[in-house]
Amino acid sequence: MSTSSKAGVQTYKNFINGKWVPAVSGATFPVYDPSTEEVIAQVASAAAPDVDQAVAAARAAFDSGPWPATTAQDRGKILHKLADKIRQNTARLADIESRNSGKPIIEAEYDIADVATCFEYYAGLANKVMGHVNPVPANALSFTLREPVGVAAQIIPWNYPLLMAAWKLAPAIAAGCTCILKPAEQTPLTAIEIANYFEEAGLPPGVVNILNGLGETTGAALVAHPGVDKVAFTGSAAVGKIIVKSAADTLKRVTLELGGKSPNIFFPDADWEAAVDGALFGVFINQGEVCSAGSRILVEKSIYSKFVEAMTEKTKRIKLGAPLERETKMGPLVSKEQYDRVSSYLEIGKKEAKVAIGGGRPKQFGKGYYLEPTIFYDVDNSARIAREEIFGPVASVIPFDGESEAIRIANDTPYGLAAAVWTRDIYKAFRVVKSLRAGIVWVNHMQPTYVEAPWGGYKQSGFGRELGPWGLEEYLETKQVFVNLDETPIAWY
Ligand code: ADP
Ligand code: MG
Repeated sequence: MSTSSKAGVQTYKNFINGKWVPAVSGATFPVYDPSTEEVIAQVASAAAPDVDQAVAAARAAFDSGPWPATTAQDRGKILHKLADKIRQNTARLADIESRNSGKPIIEAEYDIADVATCFEYYAGLANKVMGHVNPVPANALSFTLREPVGVAAQIIPWNYPLLMAAWKLAPAIAAGCTCILKPAEQTPLTAIEIANYFEEAGLPPGVVNILNGLGETTGAALVAHPGVDKVAFTGSAAVGKIIVKSAADTLKRVTLELGGKSPNIFFPDADWEAAVDGALFGVFINQGEVCSAGSRILVEKSIYSKFVEAMTEKTKRIKLGAPLERETKMGPLVSKEQYDRVSSYLEIGKKEAKVAIGGGRPKQFGKGYYLEPTIFYDVDNSARIAREEIFGPVASVIPFDGESEAIRIANDTPYGLAAAVWTRDIYKAFRVVKSLRAGIVWVNHMQPTYVEAPWGGYKQSGFGRELGPWGLEEYLETKQVFVNLDETPIAWY
């Protein structure tokens, strides 16, 4: 049983070595519904002794038992079964995700479908991992084996809770690694839920462990632990830097998907309606809690005023509401902490730029961490609201004069996760694409993300790539095997 109930609120345990266990200390932390501000669950809070247990389980499962003997085909079948279980439980998982994170139920349903698709993708890829035969001289044979990197600690954020779990678990399982997944403390409930499917899907005990707790304790202990071979992290740049420093002591492999301050660039010849929608969707989807949010909207001067006006008008139509209502397009922010953080940026923005719409708390909600979708305009790219990741529904609109200025402003950021450009001019579109320093550049769209294509950042948006074959690579080592074919002894003495 993952749970026990006390005072009407469920208490969830950690999943270690195929069993539900409370924290060694007995400690729990509360989990909230951000639309009501009420506690909806308590979750076991892991500390060093729990981390030791989880790492020991993952290590043992990696080194011995059924997992190392599992074939690539078998791992593919397990991933397919997980995908099937997830699809069968879409309604339940989407409900939990929406309730816990505040994202609209419709969005949560898309997320769960993407989760299943991600498991299916890596199910198919599991038995397509191949080595090379290397062209060494004729008296030898050299080839490469691709082997799992070992025990992976996977630390994920709260904006796409189960999807981020899938992006990390699916390729790791396909590669034959073992995992300790640490969900964000704000949103642990869907990862806990899918652990109930592991046994039926055929995952041996210890292959995937779900360890809950706070970043500074559970997360930090995982990163420092000598029994962990690799850390895969998605989260803030600030924590990414802490992780790299800590992982250096044991020289773990590290992949990081960090934040962004992504430019969304609009030229006058873009399809007008699509462009205005794309600007809003790019920055406001998922309450703006998106690492690739197009939070810097760069608009050429000749259309600038009209574009800001059109964005403002359409923003009035965004339906804010309770996450579980199907008409809702924007729910509350995930937590009090995030609400306070974004609110403080609203105050900073009011000093740095002009407000087109929004700027505070929507009047209609008595409770919940709701904030209005907010558009700042006449923003200078040196302003804090143009440089710092806000991770909320806050757009900074910046005017520019011509293509080269657009590129200069777009690249004038420490980040490089994503960018988008809107124009009907194919020459201009691809010149801009080539000039932008970002891990993904969309043309005439922003945000679509497919499991088949790579995802990750340039510059301070991190390193390593997720999704597609690139995502699997990050969980593989390369072993060269050299075979001597020459029977004559080495003429050494
Ligand atoms: P936010 O502040 O928006 O929650 P974080 O980057 O702090 O974003 O959180 C992303 C993930 O990183 C969460 O799972 C969190 O628990 C974890 N985390 C936070 N601090 C640390 C840390 N010092 N070491 C390891 N993991 C951490
Ligand atoms: Mg944090």
